[in-house]
Amino acid sequence: MTSIAENITQFRKTLPDNVLLIAVSKTKPESDILEAYNAGQRVFGENKVQELVTKAQNLPGEIKWHFIGHLQTNKVKQVLPYTSLIHAVDSLRLMKEIDKEAGKIKKQARCLLQFHIASEESKFGFSLEEAEEIFQNNPLQEFLNIEFCGVMGMATFTDNLSLVRKEFKTLFDIYQSLKKKYFVDSTSFSEISMGMSDDYKIAIEEGATMIRIGSSLFGERNYH
Ligand SMILES: *Cc1c(COP(=O)(O)O)cnc(C)c1O
Repeated sequence: MTSIAENITQFRKTLPDNVLLIAVSKTKPESDILEAYNAGQRVFGENKVQELVTKAQNLPGEIKWHFIGHLQTNKVKQVLPYTSLIHAVDSLRLMKEIDKEAGKIKKQARCLLQFHIASEESKFGFSLEEAEEIFQNNPLQEFLNIEFCGVMGMATFTDNLSLVRKEFKTLFDIYQSLKKKYFVDSTSFSEISMGMSDDYKIAIEEGATMIRIGSSLFGERNYH
């Protein structure tokens, strides 16, 4: 097996310049994160609030922590101070809570809107219609403390790569529609977070600007 440092170096060599590698370190020990850090990696993704906060408190301050999991409204306050990007904003209620808590700590909360693009039932995320309805009824100015940075999605967990590609294309189209309708003047709304260890190459071909890679960097996880 290759080392974490070698995996990081290998990824850096092959990724286009405009694609940000997010090292998904959930469930992995701080020693693994430090190994990646020493190989030059600065952006890490976590999907549990307490785990992110503990790691952020213990590890170097230069690390940028991305929260990539489903965020419950009652945990916004806890995670916000440590998070540089929230990937999976999937309800109006959550948007309002993030805006409120960010205001209290005088922070611009950088957020991506999560879209449901997979054919699986269980995944979270808006449809394009739901997101449009939100921005029709709640103009952007209502979210003074949120910086909307783009969209995020997860493809179906399947070997059917043409389905995966189709779902990534859907997310790209959603991004374009929102950009045109609500974010024409925004320089921030520019990110498409899609692609994991098994499908990131397709994601990049379909326009990803951020990929979230866990097992290909750190090895298999014991639990999800
Ligand atoms: C765990 C996770 C990843 C990384 O998955 P790998 O298959 O290990 O690369 C990416 N995105 C999200 C939202 C995750 O929860």
